[in-house]
Amino acid sequence: MIARIASPLHHAVTLALAAMLLGHALPQASAVVLFALPVGWLVGSFAEYTIHRFLMHGRTPAAREHARHHARPDAEQIDLRSWCAPFFFWACAWLIVVAVTASPPAAGVVVAGGCLQYSWFRFFHRVLHAPWRPRWLDGAAAFHARHHAHPRSNFGVSARFWDRVFGTWRGSGA
Ligand SMILES: [Zn+2]
Ligand SMILES: [Zn+2]
Repeated sequence: MIARIASPLHHAVTLALAAMLLGHALPQASAVVLFALPVGWLVGSFAEYTIHRFLMHGRTPAAREHARHHARPDAEQIDLRSWCAPFFFWACAWLIVVAVTASPPAAGVVVAGGCLQYSWFRFFHRVLHAPWRPRWLDGAAAFHARHHAHPRSNFGVSARFWDRVFGTWRGSGA
């Protein structure tokens, strides 16, 4: 029961947090929102790439969990650690942005961008492994399938361009 609601509950809490942070920032700083939201999304996609590459495929406890995803990609896995860890990262990110900008609303919007990116990443990853995905996602699904077959390449899931930037891109002909 808990296993079944863990994932939708994570989406709900993450999206509620993003809405709360945006609601808090919007009345005071709509210009900040326009800039900080994409920054948060971009940083989130960079975190997705680096965490996947260096933690999930490194010598860490998270790598053992991730190996189970590689073995059974169709089954969604979300244990207590992976449920809680994003909130810890977002709290750290909020503190860092406040320290740099001295603006809690800006920090909140950056974190909101990260929350939206993360929820999208989790949903998108599920869709890539689903048999019912739309045809226009075949390219992204094939890219991610090559990661499953060759785990030293194609670490980006929601944003593939990081693999271009860091030289881990594996195309269909490779
Ligand atoms: Zn996968
Ligand atoms: Zn992987």
